[in-house]
Parts: sequence; structure tokens; C-alpha cells
Amino acid sequence: MSNLYTFTGGVRIRDSAFEQTASRCPLETMPAPSQVEIFLSDGDVPCVSVGDSVLMGQPICTEDSKIMLHSSVSGEVAEIKYDNGRAVSIVINNDGNDTLADTVVPFGKKLTETAPDEIVRIIKNAGICESEDGFSVARRVECALGGARRLLINCTECEPFLASRHRLLLEHPTHVLNGAKILLRALEVSYADIVIEESKLDAIRALEEVIGNNPLLRLRVTATKHPQGDRRLIINSVTAKEPPVRETTAQLGYVVFSAEVCADIFRAFAEGMPQIERRVTVAGDSIGEQKTLKVRIGTRLSDIEAYCGGVSEDLADVIEGGMMRGKIVDRSYCASKTDTAYLYVSDKYLHKSGHSACIRCGKCVAGCPMHLLPLYLAKHAEKGNIKKALAMGLKTCIECGTCTYNCPGGVEHVYHIKNAKAKYNDERAKEAEHV
Ligand code: SF4
Ligand code: SF4
Repeated sequence: MSNLYTFTGGVRIRDSAFEQTASRCPLETMPAPSQVEIFLSDGDVPCVSVGDSVLMGQPICTEDSKIMLHSSVSGEVAEIKYDNGRAVSIVINNDGNDTLADTVVPFGKKLTETAPDEIVRIIKNAGICESEDGFSVARRVECALGGARRLLINCTECEPFLASRHRLLLEHPTHVLNGAKILLRALEVSYADIVIEESKLDAIRALEEVIGNNPLLRLRVTATKHPQGDRRLIINSVTAKEPPVRETTAQLGYVVFSAEVCADIFRAFAEGMPQIERRVTVAGDSIGEQKTLKVRIGTRLSDIEAYCGGVSEDLADVIEGGMMRGKIVDRSYCASKTDTAYLYVSDKYLHKSGHSACIRCGKCVAGCPMHLLPLYLAKHAEKGNIKKALAMGLKTCIECGTCTYNCPGGVEHVYHIKNAKAKYNDERAKEAEHV
């Protein structure tokens, strides 16, 4: 394929080094577990009490939550867990009936007769959030109203093991594209760029077939390179312009949403169903069977493991997200709205070097998509010199892991950068307390 869109830097990760079984597994709906535990964000206040009956799709927190939370099953509230006086999770026993709340009804109006603020309200009531940063989709649309110039739909998925977005595009391209059309109407933008990488040939064909000659949707095929899925790099690839780091993408008139967000918006319109499920990849060399699954929000990892044939003894860690940008989670973890994958991996996939030494090869500099000097940034971060790390672009780093992946000296740039960011945020929080 010629004329591929791309950005400077990044890395093409060798697929052959990882099992790719999940990408061949059709999206499966995992049966709802007997109990779910739905975690709350800061500021969420439960609007249900222990012993209350709840219905599937019923709000379980007050309306002033940043992102509305709904029960993913019908049943009874078994427990509300608190930490320092703040509610952290709601445990619901599933009655197995999936009785829908009476608010779960199709919108019923034609899109051409729907005003942008009505669309924002529907997305807000559905509690849809973006997996990349957990930000409210309704809020992002609201901020872009009147100022959006271009809509981009992120269909890329350039990390090893990840496959659920690929399966969504392959099996339900109309859901994604209908969601994109709803966003076009809300933002009053004339067309959407549907951005996907060249390696997903079958999904490209599925999208092409649905798009046909529709002038509202334009397919943009990018090179397969990590971290193509980053919002700024998508814009950079498609428009050949680098968004200045001091400005938000919305300030520049670009709005980027993922394929999953589009499918969830379409579902909220077509069925009135809020975001109570998440499409995830379950993969790795330590899980019985690799799968792509639709799981209810609040499903425990132990239930997912049991459904996927259990874990093997060589399991070292469970990573939520991709191998490059994901985070290690505890086995007591429960599915949340931002999850993309649960990777059960042995030591084979974990880079645990005892010794590291920079050999000044420059590979990390050449590969950094944000044009930083990762070797110096990591050095200052490791020493805890936040001022110097900030000067080297600590806040600009998107933690893509390209530098660490490329480094022959075993330097753990991202580990040090994440620690420095945490230290910086702690210091800021302490300063704010004393103001
Ligand atoms: S890639 Fe690693 S060894 Fe090469 S310059 Fe960067 S830190 Fe040093
Ligand atoms: S310094 Fe940050 S942005 Fe640059 S390659 Fe490393 S992790 Fe990615």
C-alpha cells in the first residue's frame, strides 16, 4: 500500500515475537458474573444504598458525577465500600435476569432532526468515556462545539496482543461508522477521517465496503507503528501538522475519538443503553485461552480468568492495557470503562534487567515521537531532579515506551519518567494544600 500517513519516530513492533491468537477470535459476550464490583471515581457519590434493588442500566451515582455510572446487571446492592469516608466501590449481586431500567429506550428521533446539545445530553446520560485518558466524551464534545474543524476516528491498535478494536471494526463496522456520523452531526463538521493502520487489511476492507462513496467518511491508512494511537500523533500523521504541546487538540480544532466510543454512542442512540460493557482482549502466554470479550463493567479478573481456561503457574504479572503503555494490576482488579486488555504474561515478556548502562547509541532519541532526549530525561528523572526533568520535557512525554523498547543498554526510561511524574504531582498536591 502506498502513500501511507505517518509521523516521525516511533517503532514497528515485531508481531512475530508475540502470540497473535486473540486477533483471530471473534468478539464473544462473556456471561455476566454472579456479582460485580463497580469502582467509583473521585467525587462520585452513590445514589443507591445497601439492600436496594437495581436494574441493568440504572444510574448508581448522583448526576453530578463527571462520568455517569450505571449498574451493569440487575439485582441487589450487596455492599458499598469506603476508604477514608469516601465511597470507592459498589458491589451488586446479579439476579441473572438482566431486567432493564425504564430509561433504557431507543432515542427514536432522526439524526437530521436532532440538535447538537441533545446529542451531548444522550452521550452524557450514557456515561461514555474515552479509554485513552478516561475523559468524559460528552465533555469533550461540549468543549469542541462551535470550534471543531476536523473529526478523526482512531481505529489504530499498534501494540502487541491487542485485538478487541480490530475485532470490533471487522465485525461491526456499521456501528463504528454510525457513531462517527452522530459525532459529525453534534460537532457540525463536514466529514470524518477514519484512521486505521495498513496491517489490518481485513478491517480496512470491511470499512471500505460500508463507506462506499459516502462523502462524510474518508478512510486514512497509516503505517503500522507504535504509538500511532496517540491523539496528537494521529493528527500529526493525517494532517502533517504537529500540534504545539502547549495547546490542546480541541483548541486547534481537531477532535479525536476512538472506534469504541463511536460504537458506544451508536448503541446509546439505537438502544438507549449506557456504557455498561467493555470490549477487551484477554491474552498472554499465561492464560488458558486467548479471547476478545465483551465484559460487564465490574467483572472481577478471577471470573474472566475462569472463563478463559484459568492461568498457568508461570504467570508473572497481569497487565491492564498494552505491553507498551499498560499498567500492572492486582488479581483482585475489576473491569472498568477504560480497560482495553488483560495480558497474563510470564517473565518471558517482562523486561526485568538487573543492570543498565547507556552506550550513547542515540536510538532512543531517534525513536522518540515527541522529539525529546529520553536518555537525559530518564537520567534526571532517576535522580529525582524534577526541575531538570521538566526542562527536558517531562510533561511532554506521552509514556509510549518506544525509548525503553529500543534501548540496547536496558535503560528503563519509562519507569523513571513515571516515578518522576508521580513525584511532581505529589509536590503540586502538597503545594495546593498549603495555599
Ligand atoms: S537507546 Fe539506550 S543506550 Fe542508546 S542512547 Fe538511549 S539510553 Fe543510551
Ligand atoms: S521519552 Fe516519552 S515520548 Fe519519548 S519515546 Fe520515551 S516514553 Fe515515548
